Amino acid sequence: MRAVDIIIKKRDQLPLTKEEIDFFVQGFTNGEIPDYQASAWAMAVLLNGMTEQETTDLTLAMANSGDILDLSSIAPIVVDKHSTGGVGDKTSLVVAPVVAACGLLVGKMSGRGLGFSGGTLDKLESIPGYRVNLSVDEFMNQLRQIGIVLTGQSVDLAPADGKLYALRDVTGTVPCIPLIASSVMSKKLAAGANVIVLDVKTGFGAFMSNIEDAKKLARMMVTIGKLSGRQVRAVLSDMNQPLGEAVGNAMELCEAIDTLQGHGPADFHEHCMVISSHLLQMGKKADTLEKGRELAEQILKSGDAWKKFRQLVQAQGGDVSAIDQPQLLPHAKIIEPVFSQDSGYLSMVNARTVAEAAILMGAGRAKKGDPIDYGVGVLAHCKVGEEIKKGELLFTIHANDEKKLDQVKTILYSAIKVQDSPCKPLPLFYDVIQ
Ligand code: URA
Repeated sequence: MRAVDIIIKKRDQLPLTKEEIDFFVQGFTNGEIPDYQASAWAMAVLLNGMTEQETTDLTLAMANSGDILDLSSIAPIVVDKHSTGGVGDKTSLVVAPVVAACGLLVGKMSGRGLGFSGGTLDKLESIPGYRVNLSVDEFMNQLRQIGIVLTGQSVDLAPADGKLYALRDVTGTVPCIPLIASSVMSKKLAAGANVIVLDVKTGFGAFMSNIEDAKKLARMMVTIGKLSGRQVRAVLSDMNQPLGEAVGNAMELCEAIDTLQGHGPADFHEHCMVISSHLLQMGKKADTLEKGRELAEQILKSGDAWKKFRQLVQAQGGDVSAIDQPQLLPHAKIIEPVFSQDSGYLSMVNARTVAEAAILMGAGRAKKGDPIDYGVGVLAHCKVGEEIKKGELLFTIHANDEKKLDQVKTILYSAIKVQDSPCKPLPLFYDVIQ
């Protein structure tokens, strides 16, 4: 078998066999198939799609590219959540400690920023010393000892996804249902959790901009999970406007800390409580979603979720003093307000455009392996549906490069639309698929 023939077959819109997919994934993982062939193949998949069978085969091949953890010796239920990627989406940083503090074990492998979307690992790495490359043994031991792990794809777990994910980020091959579904689900299967909530984003700031595509992606992932014996639920959530206020790594971490301490932005708090209640109900800590919600709120109020987050940071080598005193986290030199030029009702705060402004300042990567600037980003203060006055604060830019400020402001102004007549706020959620 030759990699080039598999690329040509996909280019010519033919379905790949399980053997061909296994060959390609194994070859790419062990370095025999170079990045340029994997990039061409990913682009062919993006353009021509994959059947449900191919997507399932790809997921299993990627999950099997490394170890698949068996966590049953640690606990009968281990939970995990995963977002398909958004802007200002720091949900895992809150939900994981909330549900872990409620007594559920959370073993999670996260990703880095991808395209315009942020990544939990990059946010966590803004904590000096925080390790995201735990070995399998470290993963298992930490889960046993403190009931929570937030790490990245180690060389042992779904390494094929680790490599492909970094390549897709810089080759325009992210927004593709089979590639996203297999990326997310291979990590979930490898990390061993048996109760999984998928936060499938839809809107300007998501890879699936329309609800129908998001539903298709959600259904595909739920099906793959079920076929692999996992309990999976997908929640469809809005990503037209940034979630919460902060967009940018350390800034998002600060907002997650605020939320864990009970004073986060209302929409983000609500989002975290809903995702937590699904996990608590599926993980049998609550009979109903309502009870799960009550439990999540209580644990947040008690301070136990915050304590759990501190424990996590300490266990993974992070400097706890930096989260206790967030002024010690990386921060930008220039703080620049952006005021509204009109009065009226906000009908758009385009999450993707806001992300582009943050990335221009260095919050994301232009090419694989690029360093990122953890301190920069944007605070988006207003939500769709709100009435604003001319001169009101819309955004705060946190930048390190003065020369980029004008361009960043222009981008941010293009993110919003103001109209004369009132408009409805956006919903936080659209659907649940199980
Ligand atoms: N999240 C992932 O883990 N993979 C993707 O491809 C997109 C979002």
